[in-house]
Amino acid sequence: MRSLLARTPDELRADFAAAGHAGFRAVQVAHWLYARREREFAAMLNLPRALRMELADEWDTRPLERVAVHEAADGTRKLVLGTRDGARIEAVLIPEGRRQTLCVSSQIGCSLDCSFCATGRMGLGRNLRAEEIVDQALHACEILGASGRTLTHVVFMGMGEPLLNLSNVVQAIRVLTHAEAFALSPKRITVSTAGVVPKLAELGRAVSVRLAVSLHATSDALRDELVPLNRRFPLAKLLEACAAYPIAKRDRLSFEYALLAGVNDSDADAHALARIALEARAKINLIPMNEHPGSPYRRPSEARLDAFLGVLAAAGVGATLRRSRGDDIFAACGQLGALAETQTPPTSVDAASR
Ligand code: SAH
Repeated sequence: MRSLLARTPDELRADFAAAGHAGFRAVQVAHWLYARREREFAAMLNLPRALRMELADEWDTRPLERVAVHEAADGTRKLVLGTRDGARIEAVLIPEGRRQTLCVSSQIGCSLDCSFCATGRMGLGRNLRAEEIVDQALHACEILGASGRTLTHVVFMGMGEPLLNLSNVVQAIRVLTHAEAFALSPKRITVSTAGVVPKLAELGRAVSVRLAVSLHATSDALRDELVPLNRRFPLAKLLEACAAYPIAKRDRLSFEYALLAGVNDSDADAHALARIALEARAKINLIPMNEHPGSPYRRPSEARLDAFLGVLAAAGVGATLRRSRGDDIFAACGQLGALAETQTPPTSVDAASR
């Protein structure tokens, strides 16, 4: 069977035409799927019965099964989704005022093995297919729709390195931004990378989404240790690629910087970071280390966090401190996959019935 969620409505029109169906049927199907969140062809009542049966045999609309939805005290929800080959992936829905941001995974596990990240310990299972990325968003829309809300932002900050699965990530972005599908503005989509330098330009050519780069260190010596990918693509090359990444005049790229107590959180580190950010015209997203079992790294004290932020502010660098969301259900940055095989978080609720 072919996967409907992997195709943009335009591609679907061509697919339908090639199969001898009228092109406008594809528009109807996309409307059922994305506007009404109806996955069953049998329920698409403005299609002829024979066509509904034919499409149901040809096209799969359910690549991921909803296994569980865990809700944190702060309203963050972690979606645990099952793939057809029996793997579990995670996506995180984060409410922020009127925003509803979905953090999606791009791979099962991750090959990069950043020293402070739980996902890296799993190693790489496989790349997610485009439909498996898109379906994380469709599940989120289904969950939000139940309470009359809609998805407003998508960030590729879940499990995996999106630039090592670029063609599927780009195809998923095309569906997410298509007017007849999710209709999200590309400005509301952020791709985060640990710095796969040769793929940065490719991303910039394919789509015009926002870019976040996981910096975490201002010297190659430390970055080699924290983000082993740095040994292949050192800081100078990474910053060069960032400078060449196409961004609109008043937009900025962001650098993510995980604050690890005693490792990269000194005033001197903050000054070095400020210099790099000013040079790159970037804003900084500070993420205090989200601790997880088996990791030696710790979150700095509140006083240290304030001091670090203070240095950046005094240097005129735009910086935010990402107060952690969803860490009581292991849904925070770098915690995805941490409990995959061991235990269930305490505040879990069963998967909402479809
Ligand atoms: N592979 C991509 C996507 C992951 S995004 C990337 O590296 O950018 C998730 C962000 O959370 C990255 O900046 C990652 O480095 C950071 N992160 C990972 N583990 C963390 C932890 N334990 N605490 C805080 N941030 C963490």
